[in-house]
Amino acid sequence: MSPLIAGNWKMNGLTHSLDELSELARLLTTGEAPRALVVVCPPATLLAAVAAQGASSGIIAGGQDCHANASGAHTGDISAGMLADAGAQYVIVGHSERRNDHAETSDTVRAKAEAAIGSGLKPIICVGETESQRDAGEAESVVAGQLAASIPDAAEQHEVIVAYEPVWAIGTGRTPTLDEISQMHNAIRARLADRFGERGETIRILYGGSLKPQNAREILGVDNVNGGLVGGASLLAKDFYTIISAV
Ligand code: PEP
Repeated sequence: MSPLIAGNWKMNGLTHSLDELSELARLLTTGEAPRALVVVCPPATLLAAVAAQGASSGIIAGGQDCHANASGAHTGDISAGMLADAGAQYVIVGHSERRNDHAETSDTVRAKAEAAIGSGLKPIICVGETESQRDAGEAESVVAGQLAASIPDAAEQHEVIVAYEPVWAIGTGRTPTLDEISQMHNAIRARLADRFGERGETIRILYGGSLKPQNAREILGVDNVNGGLVGGASLLAKDFYTIISAV
């Protein structure tokens, strides 16, 4: 399976940020061809522009969240169909910032992933433990519970991606050790294989949480790490390109 590197711009990005996208496109098309699929998830206001501008350099656009319903009275929300209509092919669901800021449960996340699949999008389903859960030795059981409840059965027939993002590593500059990453990714792979059989072996498992140019090569080289979900370091074309090139 080809690795996938997705950039999550979060609530960052104005029209001028498209200059960074142009620079990324330049780096991707003038340097060695990337071995990874490259996805950029900008704020919804820039999605159509990213989809249009990225097409010629192979940059794929993704949303950062979607509503579980197709349409209706949900002021401020955005449906999976709207993201697809704007040119997205992927959508992040269940990011820990959504789980925390918007009290999203794994049931909500599963409904969003189902909506994404229903609109032809590939959901990037995020899971990950908090620091206190890790300290209490509960990291694997927390993640197992999130996986069971957040991944829809439709993953048997449709592509989904899992992103393991320890909450305490997001935006902090701290990362788990390579052994801890390996242990968790192997545990996730085992759960996916248990539930989905051979198909579970083909589901990408991304690592996310302070992935940087400095640590990308070693983290992306860990067994069962099939790419990365990158926050802060995806905002600068040069840094994001270095991470992509580390694959
Ligand atoms: C994220 O928000 O998905 C993320 C991984 O952020 P950062 O890379 O900034 O830790």
